[in-house]
Amino acid sequence: MQGSLDLPDLEHCQRCPRLVDYLAQLPPRRGRQRSEYWNRSVAGFGDTDARLWLVGLAPGAHGANRTGRPFTGDGAGDFMYPLLHEGGFSNQAEATSIDDGLQLIDLYISNAVKCVPPANKPTAAEFNTCRSYLVEEWRQLSNVRVILALGRDAFLSVLRMFKELGMVDRPADYPFKHNGCYLLPNGQRLLACYHTSRYNVQTRRMTPELFQQVLTHARQLMDDQK
Ligand code: SF4
Repeated sequence: MQGSLDLPDLEHCQRCPRLVDYLAQLPPRRGRQRSEYWNRSVAGFGDTDARLWLVGLAPGAHGANRTGRPFTGDGAGDFMYPLLHEGGFSNQAEATSIDDGLQLIDLYISNAVKCVPPANKPTAAEFNTCRSYLVEEWRQLSNVRVILALGRDAFLSVLRMFKELGMVDRPADYPFKHNGCYLLPNGQRLLACYHTSRYNVQTRRMTPELFQQVLTHARQLMDDQK
């Protein structure tokens, strides 16, 4: 089923004072108005029965924080969505606005931290505070077989979630490695991937080929566990 999970109070959550202050004064990009911006927490979206859950870091200031949907309207999404479409994970390659008709197939996308942080860097306390929503997403996404974490920080937040749930003793036992995969005690797989940020794409740390490899790996893992 397409949509967003039901996360109580997410839309009006103000538990991170630094992020609330940042959102209150974030200037729009040149040529845009603040009134065009979503400027609040950004819920995940996609197929709520999905077997693949992609977890990013946090909304981009002028991407998800503007459009209200993860990875929509910025460089990270412009890179990622056409490749997700090519991999059979969506009905279209374009992701421009919350009402552009994009539907995800067997995939749900959300972020480890739901509000935009200054300089794209949530604090440890903000990761920890927002993790209650990550746990709730994990509980509701009951068909997920593979969790694809984009970037080291999202990967670590997912591991810390499993530590809180009593399934992982030491996150340090699961080092981040691009396309590296770990079997979790509950049978789910945690797959690591470099972030698709504009910086990573420009520096060629992330390329279409590298992302396609991870998607192919994710698909194999999903299908292996049918
Ligand atoms: S980052 Fe998460 S916990 Fe913090 S204010 Fe936003 S929604 Fe609430």
